[in-house]
Amino acid sequence: MQVKPIARTLWTAVKRLALALGIVIVVALCSTVVMIFASGDDEFAYTPPATLINDITQMNPTHVGRVIAPRSVEEVSAALRETTGPVSIGGGRFSQGGQVSYPDSVHLDMRELNRVVTLDVAGKRIVVEPGITWREIQEVIDKHDLSIKIMQTYSNFTVGGSLSVNVHGRYIGEGPLVRSVESIKLVLADGSVVTASPTENSELYFGAIGGYGGLGVIVEATLQLADDVKMERRDVVMPTTEYRAHFMANVRDDRDVIFHNADLYPPDFTEARDVSWYRTDKPVTILDRMIAADDEYVWQPRLANFIGGTDSGKWLRQNVLEPLYYTQDRVAWRNWEASYDVAELEPESRADYTYGLREYFIPVARFDEFIPKMREIFTKHDANVINVSVRHALPDSGTLLAWADEEVFAFVVYYRQGRTPADVEAVRAWSVEMIDAATSLGGAYYLPYQVFESLQQFEAAYPRAHEYFALKARVDPGNRFRNRLWQQLYPPNIDALESTRRETKGYFRGEEQTFLTVPEWYLVWNPVEYADFLASGQNPSDFPFFASIDEYWTLYDRVNSIASANRYGHNSEYVTMLRVIGASTTLEYILKGAYETSIGRFTRWTADGQDTEEDLLIQRAHREYANFIFGAAWYEYDFARFLDELWGETPLFGENFVRKLERRLFFTLEYGGKTAYAKLIGFASATAYGEKDDHIFFTVVAPTEDTPNPPGVETVQADGRTRIVSSLRWGPFTESAARLAAAGFDFEDVSGNRRIVVTAVGPADRDPPAEGTAKLFESRVLSSADVERHVLLVDTASLGALLRTLPASGVRLEHVYDY
Ligand SMILES: Cc1cc2nc3c(=O)[nH]c(=O)nc-3n(C[C@H](O)[C@H](O)[C@H](O)COP(=O)(O)OP(=O)(O)OC[C@H]3O[C@@H](n4cnc5c(N)ncnc54)[C@H](O)[C@@H]3O)c2cc1C
Repeated sequence: MQVKPIARTLWTAVKRLALALGIVIVVALCSTVVMIFASGDDEFAYTPPATLINDITQMNPTHVGRVIAPRSVEEVSAALRETTGPVSIGGGRFSQGGQVSYPDSVHLDMRELNRVVTLDVAGKRIVVEPGITWREIQEVIDKHDLSIKIMQTYSNFTVGGSLSVNVHGRYIGEGPLVRSVESIKLVLADGSVVTASPTENSELYFGAIGGYGGLGVIVEATLQLADDVKMERRDVVMPTTEYRAHFMANVRDDRDVIFHNADLYPPDFTEARDVSWYRTDKPVTILDRMIAADDEYVWQPRLANFIGGTDSGKWLRQNVLEPLYYTQDRVAWRNWEASYDVAELEPESRADYTYGLREYFIPVARFDEFIPKMREIFTKHDANVINVSVRHALPDSGTLLAWADEEVFAFVVYYRQGRTPADVEAVRAWSVEMIDAATSLGGAYYLPYQVFESLQQFEAAYPRAHEYFALKARVDPGNRFRNRLWQQLYPPNIDALESTRRETKGYFRGEEQTFLTVPEWYLVWNPVEYADFLASGQNPSDFPFFASIDEYWTLYDRVNSIASANRYGHNSEYVTMLRVIGASTTLEYILKGAYETSIGRFTRWTADGQDTEEDLLIQRAHREYANFIFGAAWYEYDFARFLDELWGETPLFGENFVRKLERRLFFTLEYGGKTAYAKLIGFASATAYGEKDDHIFFTVVAPTEDTPNPPGVETVQADGRTRIVSSLRWGPFTESAARLAAAGFDFEDVSGNRRIVVTAVGPADRDPPAEGTAKLFESRVLSSADVERHVLLVDTASLGALLRTLPASGVRLEHVYDY
């Protein structure tokens, strides 16, 4: 008779408990979501160093050693005479593959050497310094009804950068920029100043124009100018198969055509739109003589984003937007059409996607053969091509790295790409096939973009490369003038070790990783703190669970703001992973914190603060977990083993039964949940990342050629004292690094990077040695108020010394954050 009411009461109690638990979980979930989105560390402001050089794509952050911005030719000479080591040269920084930078180099920022030296209006000639932009020249010559003879479509580029690339525009009856250059002045590696023209030091003239800063610094140029004239725009749409004949018959030899290009529409490229500007006497429809320098571009970047984002966007552009756009009659000044600003293309953010250019030069006779090859490659690789613009160029006048040995059509490919390593690989795949397609037709490809090509491909496209290399060896015997392009292609830079680095899968890793791994490692340090806390005999309920959550998200914020200030690009895969582990830890800690401070605290009180056998088992389990995750992924840990021990070997009954039972249930819930969650994450990670990537490669310099590697470090290749080595990643890498340093080794690079994050832990009032290191910030060691974690950014060249001096400094090495 009594059974039913008791059962009902019990059932009601279970339901209420379930409801209470449900509410706690919902609150925890909501708090987790709020934590992720509201986390913001207002106190922390990170300013990237001025020595971090990037380019417009934001894909090539490079730390140079020092930046010098010369304001005179003498200052350029002095900069070369008074410094040693590699020198890189930057103009407008619009090249897209690191052509302006080299790690740890003296970087010459040419933008302050930007004056007009002389203007000869009658002779239509101007002498300028190299840091001046086309736009700045236009401001001066427009009032004399003069125009630049050859330049790119946009006006933001510097003269020095344009000369070194030997650029072209959309001009008819012209070609590479060299055709409009009368002479240049060059400062060579020894600081001497030479004048070079087709008749004086001609080798230097034809080497430095199109020479990508490899021979010397261009400090002055004499350029021919043209008349500023009124032009009328006309357009014709036709099948791409008819374009070549149309161009030859109607455009090529018409002296009235000033600008011409043809847009080929992706993804089929079967339709071409000829857009040409003809000299005219008609009144202008655009009154401005130049586009206002402060024009705002609101819809253009959005349009590019829309077109780049979807196939329907591309369809709409071809079939609706452009047909409408070209119905307008336009008569404008030549300087107006030549004063476009790249801001017109600039997206709101390049964090997730960036936009790039690639260009292929095809002999005019082979135009029709190239189209199907191009279409096939883009389709095969699903390349996100927004536009292909065809331009025409007459042959080069003789530069060593001429991209137009004969008359060519230039195919300018504008595309969108993501920023993960996989995205870069995808662009590499189609880019290199396009190079082969171009060279198979006797053509070439353009060098100012992402550097994917091999030396063989470069030599096939630029058959006089060996002459350029021989000249460089003569005028720059110390190989001072460097950048990422020449690092990849100049044979003396490709020694045996460099070839091995390039061929070793996984050698190069993104620098942003060293920062982004910091919060991930916090989830190693925090369990160590927890294990220490439990072992110290303190009440588990007092552990700072909520402060730990806060610390995780603070670190997450800080490293993300460093990564974005350094413009590393958004490593969305990794950041998503940090969010996932952060969210699950937040949820776990909210639940655990709420539980421990209420029920846990109560049962601990019932046991009079004594540890039960279950408490001791929990302590051991957390200690083993903390040790395990130092060198392996957390989800590989065998959580179930401790449950077996708990239920199989630990007596159920005994002293302090309430605490025993509660700890048993609590631990079963925790480790049972983790067993299941670990299986899920393990499966997801195997599916997402495939094969295990557990080694890291780096280059060290041994004290002597015979010094053996310490345990855990394998030599991949050695050249004298320099060795490419490998070690297991994560915890074992820190151990390897410490052993190498102790054995007297120094580090050249780690995974191709020359900066690495290190944390050191010690008394709050003691700083680690500062040589070659910069303190990024402090991180709290929550369970111990007197101890602080110093998060340092260390030059790899100083890493060995730092690791050797740390032990005596009273600050302990915690971790070296591999990539
Ligand atoms: C949106 C966009 C549109 C473009 N359109 C065109 C186009 O229509 N036609 C075309 O041909 N190209 C085009 N380009 C490519 C562009 O012309 C090159 O990237 C050019 O180098 C940009 O000039 P810069 O001043 O930014 O040069 P930077 O990128 O700063 O430098 C380019 C190279 O020149 C070297 N250099 C710079 N200054 C000197 C100096 N004083 N002495 C010696 N070496 C020096 C650098 O070391 C580097 O190797 C385009 C690029 C972009 C981003």
